[in-house]
Amino acid sequence: MSSRHLARRTAVTVVSAAALVAMAAPADAATTTSTSTTAAAASAGDVDYATWQKDCQAVMNQALPYLKQRIAATKPGEKQAIVFDIDNTTLETDFGFSYPQPANKPVLDVAKYAQEHGVSLFFVTARPGIIYTFTDYNLRYDGYKVSGLYVRGLFDLFKDVAAYKTAQRADIENKGYTIIANIGNSATDLSGGHAEKTYKLPDYNGQLS
Ligand SMILES: [Mg+2]
Repeated sequence: MSSRHLARRTAVTVVSAAALVAMAAPADAATTTSTSTTAAAASAGDVDYATWQKDCQAVMNQALPYLKQRIAATKPGEKQAIVFDIDNTTLETDFGFSYPQPANKPVLDVAKYAQEHGVSLFFVTARPGIIYTFTDYNLRYDGYKVSGLYVRGLFDLFKDVAAYKTAQRADIENKGYTIIANIGNSATDLSGGHAEKTYKLPDYNGQLS
């Protein structure tokens, strides 16, 4: 099956999957539900697309010089990794409702620099496991090189999101990686340590999941 075919075939499914995300993410429920219902519009809440892009670019303008310097200083035998959140971090989740969702361009630019310089990219999301395949396909379609994708299993859905995400970073470290940066747009993406640096994209007080 061609990718175009797959995209068309899964377009309807991803709409119901997004609804499922809203239901299945208790800790995120307030923000996810409110943004999902407005996702058909070209903006999320009070935030317009241009402002969001400008704000994301400003954060990535801080991240890129650090990453260039940290990657250049790779220690012998060190396996470097970056951890990314997905919704409104690597993908434009709340700014249009297509499938595949477009990449968040400022973040994709940084990700591409890293992956072209030997850094492994890991994606840790509160999305439930049922949409693993759609999410994995979407990330690769947009140009992200996925070394690992962590979605929430049935029992993880009832855990605190921050604790769940922290546990996944610990798991990545246990596989021998050094997490040089953790990039997300919610406080729950970034708390809990297990990363040398964190970069916080805007969520406008919880308006973006
Ligand atoms: Mg997010």
